[in-house]
Amino acid sequence: MYLKELTLRGFKSFASSTTLRFEPGITAVVGPNGSGKSNIVDALTWVMGEQGARNLRGTSMEDVIFAGTATRPALGRAQVTLTIDNSDHALDIPYAEVTISRTVFRNGGSEYAINGSQCRLLDIQELLSDTGLGQQMHVIVGQGRLDAILRADPAGNRAFIEEAAGILKHRKRKERALRK
Ligand code: ATP
Ligand code: MG
Repeated sequence: MYLKELTLRGFKSFASSTTLRFEPGITAVVGPNGSGKSNIVDALTWVMGEQGARNLRGTSMEDVIFAGTATRPALGRAQVTLTIDNSDHALDIPYAEVTISRTVFRNGGSEYAINGSQCRLLDIQELLSDTGLGQQMHVIVGQGRLDAILRADPAGNRAFIEEAAGILKHRKRKERALRK
């Protein structure tokens, strides 16, 4: 499994539709300060289900929508689409290629889709949760994140290990069932 393609539309500084294609192996993104390198990482985090605006370096979810510049008006929505090569079937879904997408509207609404079919955020989180691409995003190590992992209390350590071992999903299901 590897990340194959990422398309940003109206996400942060990417006002025009922008597609990045990745090959297997290591990808480096280089560019001047403020050119949008971290915004690309934010887009990856966001499309995989991130819910915390602060983890996306903003204060509200609306902050991911292109806010406009002197020459270009603000947009009403942000959309990110990620294509994952699943030819090794690491994701528990019978497709060799999986596309997940997330859209947020300035009025607050949001949409999620897997291979073009609308779904819930939960479906995306569950699809990714056994792969190391889960909600806690320990594969995306941002500034300060390493510190948080090193300083985690026993409960925090347990959550990391549970997610890595693929049991967090089942515990969350159990918690949801008990709440009903
Ligand atoms: P550095 O090398 O300093 O880390 P970078 O390449 O990582 O820079 P980013 O942090 O990805 O840069 O991009 C910052 C730019 O994105 C800023 O110019 C900021 O104004 C712009 N930006 C962030 N959010 C939005 C938004 N919602 N609308 C328009 N522009 C945005
Ligand atoms: Mg940066």
